[in-house]
Amino acid sequence: MTQELFAIVGNPVSHSKSPLMHNLAFGGLGMRGCYTRYRLEDGSTLKERIIQLNLKGINITVPHKRSAYEACDQLDPFAQKVGVVNTIVQREGKLHGYNTDAPGFLKALSRFDGIKKVLFLGAGGTAQSTAIILRDAGYEVTLLNRSSGRLKPFEEMGFVCSTFEAFTPTAYDLIINMTSAGLEDELLPCPQPLLDLLIPQSRACVDVIYGKETPFLRLAKSYNKPTQDGSDMLLYQGIIAFEHFCDYRYSFEEIEPHMRRAFSL
Ligand code: NDP
Repeated sequence: MTQELFAIVGNPVSHSKSPLMHNLAFGGLGMRGCYTRYRLEDGSTLKERIIQLNLKGINITVPHKRSAYEACDQLDPFAQKVGVVNTIVQREGKLHGYNTDAPGFLKALSRFDGIKKVLFLGAGGTAQSTAIILRDAGYEVTLLNRSSGRLKPFEEMGFVCSTFEAFTPTAYDLIINMTSAGLEDELLPCPQPLLDLLIPQSRACVDVIYGKETPFLRLAKSYNKPTQDGSDMLLYQGIIAFEHFCDYRYSFEEIEPHMRRAFSL
């Protein structure tokens, strides 16, 4: 059997944990696969690159998730619904697209009990797929964003939305930082006076950023709230992508221990 090639595609990709996660799973499960990284500047060339490099599967990161959606020949129903693709598998020359970020995120939230009302801080691409899957799963999702422009598609989908200025704080079970505030800076995702009203009324706070303690999670901890960073989301989206890569030859439970090692090495 020939070795199959996989990659994380985006710009930048040098920081990505995906090659380590997937190569540990290939090695641990005895699959002949090799996962690398590919920095792509022009998203419109995604399809020809996949074919040219004969990539069996890819994950797509910032800023090409929408281009990935457009590059696919076939979309699974959820990817079609949210319009964002982060996993592509090539089968017989055709590109099959999936969104694994959102189910990965949903699974990461399963450790919290009794959650109904969720407040998203941020309304970017990640918020789009995750808000939809949470709503489908029965959560009530409200979006709070710095600027009004990005809220429009959410309003059209019937979500309750607000900018900081127009917002009237009330009680939410879970507050989630869906912004990139805190990723490469020490900023909070919204003005602190708002968070000082919201966090004490919440049960827990979650950040999608991983690998560091953000100012948002630090503030939540100062109120003695349970917190969770984005590591589980990253792990679970990777496992679900791997299930597609191996055409379901291995189960989630078989893949997980191998991939999880990437977080302790
Ligand atoms: P986008 O660029 O699509 O959206 C960014 C969002 O953050 C917008 O709502 C923007 O608001 C807001 N924002 C940015 N800076 C600030 C700030 N200083 N203060 C307040 N709001 C701010 O990003 P993505 O949705 O693709 O990614 C969001 C986060 O999710 C990133 O940190 C990314 O690393 C993380 N992520 C984590 C994953 C994981 O597996 N753990 C997977 C995918 C993403 P505005 O509209 O006003 O500009």
